[in-house]
Amino acid sequence: MKHHPLRIGIAGAGLGGLCLAQGLARVGMDVDVFERDAGMHARAQGYRLRIDADGQRALAACLAPDRYALFRHSATQAQGAPRWIGPDLAPREERRPVNWRATGGAGDDADTEPGDLAVHRQTLREILGDGLQDRIRYGHAVVAVDVSGAQAASAGTLVTDDGQRHAYDLIVAADGVASPLRQTLLPHAAANHLGAYTVYGRTPLDPACAAALDARLLEGVTVVFGAGLSLIIEPMRFSAPLPALAARHAPGCTLSPADDYLYWAFLGRAETLGVAALEDDADAAAWLAGLRHTVRDWHSSLRRVLDLADPRSISQRAVRMPDTVPEWPVGAVTFLGDAIHAMSPAGGLGANTALADAASLAAALATVRERADLRGALRAYESDLRARGRAALQTSLAGTRRLLA
Ligand SMILES: Cc1cc2nc3c(=O)[nH]c(=O)nc-3n(C[C@H](O)[C@H](O)[C@H](O)COP(=O)(O)OP(=O)(O)OC[C@H]3O[C@@H](n4cnc5c(N)ncnc54)[C@H](O)[C@@H]3O)c2cc1C
Repeated sequence: MKHHPLRIGIAGAGLGGLCLAQGLARVGMDVDVFERDAGMHARAQGYRLRIDADGQRALAACLAPDRYALFRHSATQAQGAPRWIGPDLAPREERRPVNWRATGGAGDDADTEPGDLAVHRQTLREILGDGLQDRIRYGHAVVAVDVSGAQAASAGTLVTDDGQRHAYDLIVAADGVASPLRQTLLPHAAANHLGAYTVYGRTPLDPACAAALDARLLEGVTVVFGAGLSLIIEPMRFSAPLPALAARHAPGCTLSPADDYLYWAFLGRAETLGVAALEDDADAAAWLAGLRHTVRDWHSSLRRVLDLADPRSISQRAVRMPDTVPEWPVGAVTFLGDAIHAMSPAGGLGANTALADAASLAAALATVRERADLRGALRAYESDLRARGRAALQTSLAGTRRLLA
């Protein structure tokens, strides 16, 4: 493949950073990814992700066709219609979010406006990391960028925690909600704590679970509206064992196995979730005890989702969002994903917007024929990033308010 003139350094091997690296590697660009974690599986990062039409288009643009086919086939099987209910299981159709999107199925073809696909986060990360093993430097946290050097106009040096310096034509901060690069370069653009938390986990979808729960909870997505909080429940049933799907659709890619499970996530303020007295880093058992107390009067089927949950699977996160996507001068560093527009999980938009950012930046950089074109490409990308990011922040904030009502 023809050698591309640009060298790109990416901080963060999350969903957005890896998707960008895939898109750039496809056009022969020289790209390195620096990741703080010791490896792809160093920590649990969540379970179910809904990938909407924008996210699917971005993945189709950045991934090689066999990896994209594997992504679609790894999604869970098509499910029944979503349900909006109260803690007593009675319908609350009037609470249906205006922007709710239909669910597609694993083998569906991508048409003009495909339904959402529900994928296992670890599976998507494994597909996004496939083929990049030599380009990702795990265990290297980016601590600073130096843009003051005497290099060419828009070049910068990325500094890692072992003191090493790496020069690039462009540095992309894809280092997530607590982005050290955003905090240093754009300190006014902080992602503010909205006062809400999401607490999420999984319940094995085994015969004991199937026997104990109302069957409708196992048919499709259910959103339960409680007082000042909400609970989303979604069955994750894979069409075949994930390693076998990889062997069939993208033989070079290795996928870890995952058993079917029921994904659940609460969203609420600490007080309404019953965890007000807990520190952010309280252990999962304490969060689980708080949630059990909160749902003590709910329908027994909903209580059993928690009773049968895998206690090791439970995590919590403060919900953080910035006011807007800020402006910054076009230069040696750009941003994507949660690093610049972290979102509440309420709208299911954070990952989708990060993937769309990655595809947009990869497409802009692919037009660069010589280094002098870089500024124009960045201007185009950053204007698109701001328009999409600001719209997504608004939708996500509105969705969060509805779920906390
Ligand atoms: C419970 C829950 C459910 C969600 N569900 C959905 C959903 O269904 N659909 C959806 O669209 N979104 C969803 N989201 C949001 C989604 O997870 C994020 O928006 C998405 O992961 C953002 O991708 P990213 O690449 O920007 O950041 P991340 O995926 O967070 O990646 C950032 C990476 O940077 C690394 N890093 C951090 N600091 C450094 C450093 N100094 N140096 C090097 N590396 C560093 C991190 O270790 C990480 O690997 C959900 C979030 C939560 C919490």
